[in-house]
Amino acid sequence: MPFTVFIAADIEGVTGYVSWPDKPPEEYWLREQMTAEVNAAIEGALEGGAGAVIVSDIHWNKQNIIPDKLAKKASLIRGSKRKLMWMDSVERSNLAFLIGFHTGCGKENAVLPHTMDTRITSLKINGLAAGEALISAVTAGCFGVPFGLATGDRAFIDEINTIMPDVEKVAVKEAIGNCAALNIHPEIALKKIRESAKIATQRAMDGDFQPYHCTSPVEILIEVIWPGYADALSLIPGVKRTGGREVSFAGDWFEALGIISLFINWIGVMPGLL
Ligand SMILES: [Zn+2]
Repeated sequence: MPFTVFIAADIEGVTGYVSWPDKPPEEYWLREQMTAEVNAAIEGALEGGAGAVIVSDIHWNKQNIIPDKLAKKASLIRGSKRKLMWMDSVERSNLAFLIGFHTGCGKENAVLPHTMDTRITSLKINGLAAGEALISAVTAGCFGVPFGLATGDRAFIDEINTIMPDVEKVAVKEAIGNCAALNIHPEIALKKIRESAKIATQRAMDGDFQPYHCTSPVEILIEVIWPGYADALSLIPGVKRTGGREVSFAGDWFEALGIISLFINWIGVMPGLL
């Protein structure tokens, strides 16, 4: 089997992206830049010795990357809804990248900080504040797959430094506020991502990266924006109500991830709210 790189690709951490548009579809230029940043990571990975790449489009409806503009060596996972959120098929890979990412909810000096969905106001995994990066790291770690590269805004890179400090990193912008940033030029972002992806793949082949410690079994704490969501979550077997807007679960990581996925993907927005 060829050395395979799995790329989880979001859009909030792409250079130039500073606010969610009022209406879909996303601003087309930003979809092009997201696709270009992913292509830069693919090309770097191939130059570094990878033989195959799987790309997971993870933003919103998960259909943002422009398929016919994606590098031909890569396969693309599009669409919702997925059991492992955005990490399905990471088990088929040898190395993983996070491209275009953002910090978890509630961070200051961060562009659009959130944890999957603005209905979640706090998520903890074994007491650690968790954003999408930690969820990705734990999931890949449980399959024995290490991370090698992370790109996004400066605050996201700071978050990565607390989770997996050894990986290659590219900061493409720095927050000026919640919905404003000082961005590096799009072409400079591509150059940096390509170079870092190549180095990350070469380092991985030399055995430089270790998978994130698989924390299973785990305890997760989920705080939601409205008690009605905690009512819904507490109906899931094994989930305990621990507060007006908070629930907890202790057990296998994939069961915990299943509860998160069920909430994000299948428990809808309450009528009259948001
Ligand atoms: Zn996103």
